[in-house]
Amino acid sequence: MEARGIENLYIYELKAIAPSDKFAVLLHQKENGKTEEIRIHYDLLHPMPKFQTPAPLRKSPLTAEGLGGQGEVNSETLQHKRYKNVFALGDSSPTGAPKTAATIRKQAPVVAENLIDSILELPPKIYTTAHLAAPC
Ligand SMILES: Cc1cc2nc3c(=O)[nH]c(=O)nc-3n(C[C@H](O)[C@H](O)[C@H](O)COP(=O)(O)OP(=O)(O)OC[C@H]3O[C@@H](n4cnc5c(N)ncnc54)[C@H](O)[C@@H]3O)c2cc1C
Repeated sequence: MEARGIENLYIYELKAIAPSDKFAVLLHQKENGKTEEIRIHYDLLHPMPKFQTPAPLRKSPLTAEGLGGQGEVNSETLQHKRYKNVFALGDSSPTGAPKTAATIRKQAPVVAENLIDSILELPPKIYTTAHLAAPC
């Protein structure tokens, strides 16, 4: 990213856009917890919604403290730690793997097999997060 002159701005939230002036208004959370408002000029703007898991999961007992609303699953088997007949994959699974469709492509077959194995009372298979990248 640096070699290409791309600057990463983390913990910035898009608040408003002034298209006539080509300015984006961002809220930046500082280290002291306070929020400052800044304006950045843009040539091309590609906004996307703030990342969050679906409300039915985020507000359910399936998640736990510190998981940002993701399912409380084993990162290798994708099986829920407390509800053994529940699995989570994709953006709702805290595995440490990139949040991409490419990740899901590897996770989906494992979850399908582990669902069947859990019904048959067989031990779950292990999924690996190695060699995952976008695009899929
Ligand atoms: C801008 C952008 C670019 C990306 N580019 C790439 C890329 O190039 N390559 C790549 O591999 N990945 C890419 N990704 C990541 C990829 O899109 C996600 O990781 C993937 O879509 C996650 O899939 P998911 O099924 O876990 O969640 P989602 O795709 O978010 O699916 C969740 C679904 O649940 C539905 N839902 C929410 N609430 C409810 C409810 N109450 N009832 C019923 N349904 C509900 C939503 O409508 C949605 O359809 C990109 C993501 C973004 C935002």
